[in-house]
Amino acid sequence: MAIEKTDTLVIGAGQAGVATSEHLSKLDIPHIVLEKDRIAERWRTARWDSLVANGPAWHDRFPGLEFENDPEEFVGKDQVADYFEAYAIKHNAPIRTGVEVLSVERFTNQSGFKVVTSQGEIHAQRVVSATGPFQKPVIPAIVANTDHITQMHSTDYRNPEQLADGAVLVVGAGSSGVQIADELRASGKKVYLSVCAHGRPPRSYRNRDFVWWLGVLGEWEAAAMKPGTEHVTIAVSGANGGKTINFRELANKGMTLVGRTAKFDNGTLYFDNDLVENLNKGDQNYLSVLDAADAYIESNGLDLPEEPSARETFADAQCISNPIRELNIADAGISTIIWATGFALDYSWLKVDALDEQGKPKHQRGVSAEAGFYFVGLPWLSRRGSSFIWGVWHDAKYIADHISIQRHYLSYQDASQR
Ligand SMILES: Cc1cc2nc3c(=O)[nH]c(=O)nc-3n(C[C@H](O)[C@H](O)[C@H](O)COP(=O)(O)OP(=O)(O)OC[C@H]3O[C@@H](n4cnc5c(N)ncnc54)[C@H](O)[C@@H]3O)c2cc1C
Repeated sequence: MAIEKTDTLVIGAGQAGVATSEHLSKLDIPHIVLEKDRIAERWRTARWDSLVANGPAWHDRFPGLEFENDPEEFVGKDQVADYFEAYAIKHNAPIRTGVEVLSVERFTNQSGFKVVTSQGEIHAQRVVSATGPFQKPVIPAIVANTDHITQMHSTDYRNPEQLADGAVLVVGAGSSGVQIADELRASGKKVYLSVCAHGRPPRSYRNRDFVWWLGVLGEWEAAAMKPGTEHVTIAVSGANGGKTINFRELANKGMTLVGRTAKFDNGTLYFDNDLVENLNKGDQNYLSVLDAADAYIESNGLDLPEEPSARETFADAQCISNPIRELNIADAGISTIIWATGFALDYSWLKVDALDEQGKPKHQRGVSAEAGFYFVGLPWLSRRGSSFIWGVWHDAKYIADHISIQRHYLSYQDASQR
């Protein structure tokens, strides 16, 4: 059987793959998209049931299609997945679902790549990896597996009913950890939340959502993390109509906050003495956004209502004024630990020179060190917004443009060839 050939092969049909396909089509670049599951599978099956988008519908979308919802609404995860499916249909994206890419390697004596898939071999001049920013769940090796406790990653959490009776420790206070912890608290469970270093922008301030503030303040466009913030997670949520995350408020509502989970020994968990420092730094981050917003309003003469209540603080709950440093799991009745501790990349299928010694992509704005191989959808690919819905669309455009420019060079013929 003849081997199939294509100009550009895109791996993955999440938002990054769908956006890349749209831009390639607009530039008349022949391509196919291979997706091992379904379009936007991770939005469908790798997130908890109640998850809604982090940003309102007017913002967390591609330019070419609006959600049917109220623009201020935070759209549910299944509807986000439906949106990308509808988007792919609208743009006639040549997506083949249920086809996994098993390996990609460069030809040595000809241009292009040999792509081995679960349904045979394909030869492509160019390959775009759109396999996602969050591929392999990471659980730090702190608590050994025991019969008495269930441990799961946030990607496997679905809803409170899934958990056994008993208290829960949620480790990690980024957007996933804090939302899961609050959902469990609201369901009546006793919840301990291990709070790491975090930023917590106001959900909205002076009648503008924080996505708007980050936009006008140029923060989405930041090219790299500020030095020293590499391990700082962002706690933001669209749940319950969108509310600012305030850990001190959650503590007043009965959630027990603890510092970073450091070790586990003989049935006892030990926490670092950093809870208050982490909360204070989170507050500083919050106030810095309010200050920047106030300054922007003033310098641009905007007529937006003042909001002094945004600067009100909560009294410290007992767990903050006297932080717990040790917790015996049995005494505390903890039956489950949920690790909201992030993800790692997995390029085990990639056999080209596009990764560094640590297995991290070597690239500039997604153009990899290996000519003809590209990445789209990675965190900070070109800017802070890169792994978010609206940001990936712009990065995908840049990559499609780059491919088009290369094709133009390669189609050049000198006078003797014309
Ligand atoms: C809990 C959570 C909530 C989030 N909420 C928001 C939000 O509200 N707003 C926002 O803008 N961003 C949000 N994000 C960030 C980001 O938008 C999502 O992670 C999004 O799914 C990333 O899209 P993607 O297309 O880059 O990757 P993915 O959605 O991960 O898509 C990659 C696709 O590639 C496929 N694939 C992987 N390997 C192969 C292979 N070898 N062969 C074939 N196919 C393959 C996968 O099956 C998958 O469908 C959230 C992330 C998480 C984890």
